Amino acid sequence: MLGTRVSAQTKRPAGALERKVEALLKQMTIEEKAGQMTQVAIDVILKGGGAGAGRAAIDPAKLETAVLRYQVGSILNVAGRAYTVENWHEIINQIQDAAAKTRLKIPVIYGIDAVHGANYTLGATLFPQAFAMAATWNPELARREGEITAYQVRASGIPWNFYPVMDMGRQPLWPRLWETFGEDVLLASEMGRAYIQGLQGSDIGARDKVAACLKHYAGYGSPLSGKDRTPAWIDTRMMHQYSLPTFEAGVRAGAPTVMVNSGEVNGIPGHANHYLLTEVLKRQWGFDGFVVSDWEDVKRLHTRDRVADSPKEAVRLAVMAGVDMSMVPMDFSFCDLLLECAKDGSVPVARIDDAVRRILRVKLRLGLFANARPDPARKAAFHQPEFETANLAAAREAITLLKNRSGVLPLTRNRKILVTGPTANLLSVLNGGWTITWQGDREELYPKDKLTILRAIEGAAGKENVAYVSGTTFDKPIDIAAAVAAAAQAEVVIACLGEKAYCETPGNIDDLALDAAQVELVQALARTGKPIVTVLAEGRPRVIRGIVPVSDAILMAYLPGMEGGRAVADVLFGEVNPSGKLPFTYPRFPNALTTYDYKVLESAGGNRVNPEFEFGHGLSYTTFEYSELTLASDMLAAEGELAVSVVVKNSGARAGKEVVQLYVSDLYRSIIPPVRELKGFQKVELAPGASRQVTFTLRPKDLAFVGLDNRWVSEPGRFRVAVGKLTREFTYR
Ligand code: BGC
Repeated sequence: MLGTRVSAQTKRPAGALERKVEALLKQMTIEEKAGQMTQVAIDVILKGGGAGAGRAAIDPAKLETAVLRYQVGSILNVAGRAYTVENWHEIINQIQDAAAKTRLKIPVIYGIDAVHGANYTLGATLFPQAFAMAATWNPELARREGEITAYQVRASGIPWNFYPVMDMGRQPLWPRLWETFGEDVLLASEMGRAYIQGLQGSDIGARDKVAACLKHYAGYGSPLSGKDRTPAWIDTRMMHQYSLPTFEAGVRAGAPTVMVNSGEVNGIPGHANHYLLTEVLKRQWGFDGFVVSDWEDVKRLHTRDRVADSPKEAVRLAVMAGVDMSMVPMDFSFCDLLLECAKDGSVPVARIDDAVRRILRVKLRLGLFANARPDPARKAAFHQPEFETANLAAAREAITLLKNRSGVLPLTRNRKILVTGPTANLLSVLNGGWTITWQGDREELYPKDKLTILRAIEGAAGKENVAYVSGTTFDKPIDIAAAVAAAAQAEVVIACLGEKAYCETPGNIDDLALDAAQVELVQALARTGKPIVTVLAEGRPRVIRGIVPVSDAILMAYLPGMEGGRAVADVLFGEVNPSGKLPFTYPRFPNALTTYDYKVLESAGGNRVNPEFEFGHGLSYTTFEYSELTLASDMLAAEGELAVSVVVKNSGARAGKEVVQLYVSDLYRSIIPPVRELKGFQKVELAPGASRQVTFTLRPKDLAFVGLDNRWVSEPGRFRVAVGKLTREFTYR
């Protein structure tokens, strides 16, 4: 798995491109090279800093300083909030006008966080967040999301997206869990790969494609405390087993840029980790794109991490570790300090050349030298009706039915409904962070034509049938008694619970349990004896032990995006048969956190693994039966293949989609094996009564793990295959 050379996808002949890179590099002064490696935030070039203005106006003098004096290679972000597509065109044109006046006319590469669609362009199609996309277990939907995101980002004149997050979502407290594709390496790799394919196509230079940025390399998603940007402790074996494969999959899918882990692993800051950045990423995987720092993190090697005793030493350390571009981003200090390092030889020119070569290569692949301007025609063509259809399809497939006692769902339409809870009537709670603003919590900036859960329920059930009482804020009771009184008049109660929008460190929590006020609301409502349907809109699995037994049905909506309200109503009323499956383990207790691929030790000798809902769990309004799990042979040879097939039947009365999940257990290995590992999945749609044979192919590499010597190995031995409750065994030798 290690050591093969990969190059980012491109249709252009590599030889000609590399010659252009070398020709440019030869002409560049050391100042121009340091400039290329510098990235500043848009705030630095805006009139009055521009924060929060909603419309960016560039200050020509500041632009001149950035692009003509310092010759920065890149600019990023918005100051405060999303801009219109017209405004983006003005911004990008002005920046590229300035770049065209530089000696070598090297275009600036603009970068943006387009995390669930082009979330920093007003009116963009905003998809379910990544963990909800993962809950669809349908990579085709992620590919389509990538395609639409690229279209709208590039239509805004921006060629570079700081996405996807390939960090693992194995730490449920982490406030960025929702930016990941969940806790499993295979599922996350497949979703990420499909997204990158959609985003980049076969040529990132195309006018509707953008470059991906894999982040945050590596180990960022596993802070021990669960708090963002706090220490992770990951030994080499676990790093290779769980934190690196998704990034390697992203590099192999052609992502030409990688952003660095803003935290630390084993006391080594991500930005000083030569082993990960240079040894593994660039040497072993042959990554020929560039590495960008995260926000201000080069400086922080000095100011926060205290591994560099001066700002200059911080620059030296980061560049020598393998950082090619510094997201400084609020000043030009990096540029000045790097020049000092170049002059005193503490950073060899060869390392600077390597970094600049990588940056120029990506700019060339993006076609920026030929045309760095936004296409004016794309302003009018920014919206396409089919984008909304694709978004709704994704939200519908994400929604996961966790519980459905005595078939309380789907609801019939003519019943009296009480809707309550803090997530019932807000769009921000359906979208989360990276929506119009960084935190995504400015409800007043959300589009007026999108439906909250309440509005969608009113649309489906008739306004006259729906009463709404808020009940609580996120963490405080408002009018629980009024909600209880209203419940007496209703036939069913829909309690919409969860979290307010947040992003990164501001989303840190001290307790995974859902706020007590919300639990109290549901418990009080349950005492009325009315059926309770709980809907969860949340960015991580908040512990809901107190409301599971009193809820008749539970619907996990995750952060389902702008069409999420409609999708929730579609599932509640049976317009859509739910087919989402959890991409993480839903814990029952804050202090009993495990992933599905735990060790036998964790459930032996009186220990218990007892999550609220298991990874891969999700109910349907129909039933599926599995039979005839068959192995083509009871032996798998080295270099061989083993076909595993199973028959899945829709044994209920409704059409539905099922995710067939293939798990493999290694019965004995030299490192304690996990109880099971996901090795394949396929989503199938079946009419009532219909059945289908689903086939997977197992290869020795599917049995591999990182062994005692920290290398991938497939050990001979006995293995168990499981699909549903069916199991079979085979021998690998
Ligand atoms: C985040 C990155 C993001 C960057 C630029 C950082 O705070 O960690 O994910 O790409 O900001 O906005």
